[in-house]
Amino acid sequence: MSSKKHPLNIAFIGLGVMGFPMAGYLANAGHNVTVYNRTSAKADAWLQQYPGTKADTPADAAQDKDVVFACVGNDHDLRQVTIGEHGAFATMPESSIFVDHTTTSASVATELAAIAEKRQIGYIDAPVSGGQAGAEKGALTVMIGGADAHYQKIVHLIRCYAKMQKHLGPVGKGQMCKMVNQICIAGIVQGLSEALHFAKRNDLDTDAVVEVISKGAAQSWQMDNRAKTMSQGEFEFGFAVDWMRKDLSIVLEQARTSGAHLPLTALVDQFYSQVQAQGGGRYDTSSLISLLEKPSGK
Ligand code: NAP
Repeated sequence: MSSKKHPLNIAFIGLGVMGFPMAGYLANAGHNVTVYNRTSAKADAWLQQYPGTKADTPADAAQDKDVVFACVGNDHDLRQVTIGEHGAFATMPESSIFVDHTTTSASVATELAAIAEKRQIGYIDAPVSGGQAGAEKGALTVMIGGADAHYQKIVHLIRCYAKMQKHLGPVGKGQMCKMVNQICIAGIVQGLSEALHFAKRNDLDTDAVVEVISKGAAQSWQMDNRAKTMSQGEFEFGFAVDWMRKDLSIVLEQARTSGAHLPLTALVDQFYSQVQAQGGGRYDTSSLISLLEKPSGK
């Protein structure tokens, strides 16, 4: 399975917002892709758009595959599709590689990698950044942990849907890097929310303000991609607050065990819990501004 051009036998588990287009890029690159999705209608929809086959369980999908990808929800879901009943590890052949794109704890990655190793299966943790648009455009950023030999065997596959990928060290380091990513986002979104709120309260033209400051040191991805919708109070798209809270709970647990101090991240996590309490769990993370514009109880 070393040649870049040789089509590989691949399984992809989890055809959600992210996994659906990622699996599509692998199929369009000429690989033989078998998909599994818990709700099988999504696998049927995928087969309407891409060449491939579907399986009824992760174990069936993983049988005889060179590489098995997953992009499911959280630690629990990942355990289910790997070592649960009909999990993929049961049927993956020796020397195959499991690549996980789910955002999970680093500890579940090391736990599953140890189980995989006993079965002579390689394990790569490879959480992503870039959101639905990044997945659909094939322009994700991928943060990778795992053995170098395993990384070298799968990196050409990841390039099918990534604009940037980086090998950061052994299993777990990809998830750790994603935690750093989420810490940055939490602080930046709160800062941007306060800035836009302040601009509005002081009768500034927020579009004009953003136009000029986005060309200076205040620029950010969040400013470029979210300032307009934040000003307009539009949040029904993007990366859900529920997912962000899942990610921040992983971050804060890792901070506790490593002795890192994250006062701002902990505070922003509380703000996100307020957005959830107000019914905004599926809103984009930029909805933090709604707490300032419409404080609860006022
Ligand atoms: P999603 O649309 O909710 O899809 C989740 C997928 O996982 C679905 O296919 C779901 O199957 C499957 N799944 C969940 N639990 C399962 C279980 N126990 N057994 C089998 N399948 C299960 O989520 P997403 O937006 O694609 O996100 C996937 C991962 O990427 C998450 O870890 C998220 O934090 C991360 N991520 C998301 C974004 C984003 O912008 N959305 C950005 C970066 C990272 P069903 O169809 O049956 O529900």
